[in-house]
Amino acid sequence: GADTLITELENILVQKGYDKEVKVVKTGCFGFCGQGPIVKVHPDNVFYVQVQASDAAEIIEEHVIKGRHVDRLLYVEPIENQKLDLHRDMPFYKKQIRIALRNCGMIDPENITEYIAFRGYEALANVLTMKREDAVKVVKDAGLRGRGGGGFSTGMKWELTLKSPGDEKYIICNADEGDPGAFMDRSILEGDPHSVLEAMAIGGYIIGASKGIIYIRAEYPLAIHRLEVAIAQAREFGLLGDDLFGSGFNFDIEIKLGAGAFVCGEETALIHSVEGKRGEPTKKPPFPSEAGYLNKPTCVNNVETYANIAPIFLNGAEWFSSIGTEKSKGTKVFALAGKVNNVGLVEVPMGTTLREIIYEIGGGIQNDKAFKAVQTGGPSGGVITAADLDTPIDYESLKAIGSMMGSGGMIVMDEDNCMVDIAKFYLDFTKDESCGKCTPCRVGTKRMLEILERITEGHGTAEDLDNLQALAHMIKDSALCGLGQTAPNPVLSTMKYFREEYENHVFNKR
Ligand code: SF4
Repeated sequence: GADTLITELENILVQKGYDKEVKVVKTGCFGFCGQGPIVKVHPDNVFYVQVQASDAAEIIEEHVIKGRHVDRLLYVEPIENQKLDLHRDMPFYKKQIRIALRNCGMIDPENITEYIAFRGYEALANVLTMKREDAVKVVKDAGLRGRGGGGFSTGMKWELTLKSPGDEKYIICNADEGDPGAFMDRSILEGDPHSVLEAMAIGGYIIGASKGIIYIRAEYPLAIHRLEVAIAQAREFGLLGDDLFGSGFNFDIEIKLGAGAFVCGEETALIHSVEGKRGEPTKKPPFPSEAGYLNKPTCVNNVETYANIAPIFLNGAEWFSSIGTEKSKGTKVFALAGKVNNVGLVEVPMGTTLREIIYEIGGGIQNDKAFKAVQTGGPSGGVITAADLDTPIDYESLKAIGSMMGSGGMIVMDEDNCMVDIAKFYLDFTKDESCGKCTPCRVGTKRMLEILERITEGHGTAEDLDNLQALAHMIKDSALCGLGQTAPNPVLSTMKYFREEYENHVFNKR
């Protein structure tokens, strides 16, 4: 309903003669997806949720004409009788620290001057005066780790590529977000595309690349459009192109569209796809930092990782590393979905517990049902049960409890969810997305899925349960790339924590 609402707001402003003074701006996502459409009024700083086109007249009447706000549209629950005019006072935002999402919902993503007004491209200007070695040290000292799932040190990755011999190097943005339920990268690109362009230029300078490539799935048309607009405006403003800030450094960015293969999120497969080849992974080493795109040293980082770069240079490595836990610094964006009240995009400091995310930010489980589990890490991760709700989330602790950070999908399940069905859903996804290059993944995931189908249809046997587990371990140990190696995780973790549900299907035919 947002488009109709925008038209209505604009029409009324024209009718009332305020269209010269008051501007209606389309922003990116505020993160509070379950409560949209959202309208924020500036400079009044009032945040409205679930706004309909029929509310437009009242908002303009109250704010523009009478200088008041509309109580019934403010997000006030569960704080009662309180004027809530700063959205950071809202329970949904209270525990969040927005670094990667800092500008999402705050600026017009199609207007570069708004990004510049929020200190956009200032970090790039500063970095271009630094020695490459000093700049890479800032990223290393900050402790930023890859937000796409691997969790490898970004500074080390950049340093490795910087030290790789060769005059021709490339920097790539992995925007091939494919986890079911995940939309962190899409929101950043739709809401703040320049944050990624600026970071790529910084990374390009540091590693010695004059060309950047954004590999983005074609299913993200709005993100692609906003990137195209942003690149054109950055070129127009001299922020992409030759001799940036008079430094002699040349840098430009090209967009490559992916066809939606999940495996192309894996960096070697992605590079092959950019080269116009079949999107299949290859064994590492050699790593892309030595031989990547066109066999040249290449650095691949994901969207959220880039979105953290400019703030690190603006505020310092010490500031960034003061947020988070000992080994996981900064924040992480999660796409909170499933049976939780406040579905949306949340950015929390590393070390926040799952309980805080699900119950305080997420507002608890829908319809007061009992919490059963949460899946993190998408199809590569595992389920986390109520016993681990107080685990502070970081790369290590999620691994220790049998899941993983992944790119940030977080799907909450309640007492009504069948965990065998959940495992089947994820395996069905990975089976479809297997590139077929190696037998354990191509054939093994298919066999596992057949067993799961037998079990859920009430035809499973005790032998099926044993075979399922044995196959899962065999695939984990022998598949070529991360997709295959992690595909059995949802099955293994649901078998570990909810074995009785598998046995119920098999022995009680339920
Ligand atoms: Fe392809 Fe799966 Fe093998 Fe990876 S593990 S190379 S996705 S078949």
